[in-house]
Amino acid sequence: MKGYTTKSIHTFYTPDIHDGAVIPPLHLSTTYGIGNARGYDYSRSGNPTREVLEATVAALDGNAFGLAYSSGSAVLANIVALLGKEERILFSSDAYGGTYRFIVHVAHPQGIGYDITDFSDLNQVEDVLKKKKTKVIWMETPTNPILKLADITALGKLAKEHGVWLVVDNTFASPILQRPATHGADIVVYSTTKYTHITQVCNFCEGMT
Ligand SMILES: *Cc1c(COP(=O)(O)O)cnc(C)c1O
Repeated sequence: MKGYTTKSIHTFYTPDIHDGAVIPPLHLSTTYGIGNARGYDYSRSGNPTREVLEATVAALDGNAFGLAYSSGSAVLANIVALLGKEERILFSSDAYGGTYRFIVHVAHPQGIGYDITDFSDLNQVEDVLKKKKTKVIWMETPTNPILKLADITALGKLAKEHGVWLVVDNTFASPILQRPATHGADIVVYSTTKYTHITQVCNFCEGMT
């Protein structure tokens, strides 16, 4: 079985047969010639560089597949767009400010319903799930910025019981410290803009570097 650091560099990409590049090259082409071996046609639907990132992050998390977006908030916008009529999103009272502002000031005026509770109190969460037409629980643990924790396994269990998707914003822990999919999350989200200091994080991860 591959170790964690091996997975992070050898999941999807192998040096290209034509040029031997060891680091995945940046593919800037928007359009691809018809009939290419890997089936690319237009970069919005698939791009060789982005696929390496998507497959690698998914592998580090133990997830089946991944999708890369232009920002963490774009993921939230996309998930909200998947909600059906009158379906609601539940998030915690100390979620990232941008998450709060997007749901309350952008999605809500366009008809998306939301509820806010304290995720450290599971009774409050269950109460909302019983009374409201929740489709998505969006949780963060630890939260940005006050590092509050919530129980992924317990919320995952509640989500399953109520047919709700559990989305975990795992930006602060990263897959090095926490893999929410192994604790019941359906979708795991990262804002990689926060990772300019990743080497400092890894200095504390004994046995992983
Ligand atoms: C920054 C951040 C986001 C939003 O990501 P952007 O890439 O800035 O859109 C979402 N969640 C958390 C926890 C963040 O820190």
